[in-house]
Amino acid sequence: MIDDDDKLTFYYCTKKKQTYPAYQLISHFLVQKEHDLVDKYNEFLIDIYLLLDNKKSKEIAIDWDNTISADKPLFKQLILKLQNSGFKPCICTLRAPDIEDREEIYGFLEELQIPIYFTDGKPKRRYLKKLGISIHIWIDDFYPGISLDSCKLLERNCIS
Ligand SMILES: [Mg+2]
Repeated sequence: MIDDDDKLTFYYCTKKKQTYPAYQLISHFLVQKEHDLVDKYNEFLIDIYLLLDNKKSKEIAIDWDNTISADKPLFKQLILKLQNSGFKPCICTLRAPDIEDREEIYGFLEELQIPIYFTDGKPKRRYLKKLGISIHIWIDDFYPGISLDSCKLLERNCIS
């Protein structure tokens, strides 16, 4: 049994998302780990958002602060699961690539091989687009960091 204090509340808009394999994988995994999934937007309740972006991409962008850092063992397992199912998880953080920050994140990864993108405060979506990367699902506690003009992204994910 997971302790109530360790429980994370994840948001995703279930109606349209349940048919996407990545969503199925992630939601089943989180429920199996006894975390909460909600499909009603309530910013006071939600810890981490699962947001659909490019339907055809295989890339899953996972935030660091208050996302992976909220439960590192959980996310390590999730990253492995995603990789084993043919998805391409990466870490995308607003942090600058300072030595300390890099060491902390690379230390977490250990034997895991995934890309890390340090956007240095720049909106994540545009930053990755410039590198030719579009994201299938964003896993992030702070969606304004993904895109300054996030209207379409929010609409697509039933956040209004
Ligand atoms: Mg964060």
